[in-house]
Amino acid sequence: MNKNIAYVSITEWNQKVMRWIWISIGLVIFIQLLLYLFYQPVPECSKREYLDIFVLRPSIMIVMYAGCMELIFRFFGEALGEYVTTILFLLIQFLLLGTVVAVHSSVPFMCMILTYPVIFANVYREKIFRYAALIICILVYAGIRYGVIPSTEFYPDNSREVYLVIFVGFTIAAFSFSKVLTSVVVNFEKENQKIYEENKKVHEENQKIYEEKEKILEISQRDSMTGLYNHKIFYDKLEEYLQLCSEEYHLSLIIIDIDNFKRINDTFGHAMGDNVILKIVSVIRNNVDDKDIAARYGGEEFGLILVGKTEMEAYNVAERIRREVEAASVEGVTGNITISLGMLEVKPGDKNGILLFKEVDSALYEAKRTGKNKTVCRGWRKGDDNEYSYQNFSSSQ
Ligand code: GH3
Ligand code: MG
Ligand code: MG
Repeated sequence: MNKNIAYVSITEWNQKVMRWIWISIGLVIFIQLLLYLFYQPVPECSKREYLDIFVLRPSIMIVMYAGCMELIFRFFGEALGEYVTTILFLLIQFLLLGTVVAVHSSVPFMCMILTYPVIFANVYREKIFRYAALIICILVYAGIRYGVIPSTEFYPDNSREVYLVIFVGFTIAAFSFSKVLTSVVVNFEKENQKIYEENKKVHEENQKIYEEKEKILEISQRDSMTGLYNHKIFYDKLEEYLQLCSEEYHLSLIIIDIDNFKRINDTFGHAMGDNVILKIVSVIRNNVDDKDIAARYGGEEFGLILVGKTEMEAYNVAERIRREVEAASVEGVTGNITISLGMLEVKPGDKNGILLFKEVDSALYEAKRTGKNKTVCRGWRKGDDNEYSYQNFSSSQ
């Protein structure tokens, strides 16, 4: 059962059908009276007998059945519960219509009115009522045809007018019945629209909560001054990406430290120092891709995880940053601002973030020690000419 689809309740539907039954009973009695007026008496059945067999007795019976059902609804509905009430309701509907069919057995298509409850029962959500209606319908018809349910023995010689009147009666009943169904369908649509709108509201609220959570999470991951990832996230991301690293999935790591920053602070003031940091951050941002991770892992230290970049590509990024910082100017700060960088390309076997960090830090230290404003890569060694050159260096060596 789908709770998100509107459905008319059992009781509500029973009440609608009950109302329709009363209208139909009025129509049936009216038609019977009309037929009585048309009736041309024959020796086997006088006008008086016709009135008794075809009008009075069936009318009293069907009113009685409907009355019973109305009583059950009004006074015992709650005590019996929806299921029992509905089964009784179905049975009485068939008794009622079966009576009409049995009385008018001379009209060949009269039995079709037994299908009304079958159609009505399809509005119930529960299968049991629908199948019960179908089975009872067939049993009642068979009962009449096989004589288990008594039907009138006298077959009046029906005229075209009689058939016409009965047919019109059927059609009017079907007409009013389809109106009842339509009202239910319209209600379904209204209800469904309401459900849809409620769901939409809930969805929108959830979306808002989700977005707020995301925003809070994002803020908690960022350094408030620069907007870069913070120290914790840098390490978390490093651990995360180390797991992905393979022969095909390159990963490089760069760390950056501002040169002589204490002096900048001392000379130009802490606020100017902050501006220098922001300038460097903007250079960093301009040189990394969206998929890369840029973090401020210390006061004037930055870490970059370059995703999908080889050592050479990462070196080019590092050098570009270094040169751009060197060329940059910050208002109120004289002299060159420079940075030193340590870098390495992660090897697929490098899974220990702390160890890697130590290595890249030692590369940075090497850059500082040997004059600053340069990039040193793990695996680059000082050669005879006292210049750094690449040697195939692995962490196990
Ligand atoms: P080196 O070239 O060896 O890196 O020398 P350094 O003077 O830069 O030394 P270090 O890297 O240890 O510099 C740390 C200084 O950075 C200390 C601290 O006052 C300053 N600093 C750290 N965070 C901030 C910050 O947010 N704003 C400012 N203005 N200064 C900061
Ligand atoms: Mg430092
Ligand atoms: Mg420094």
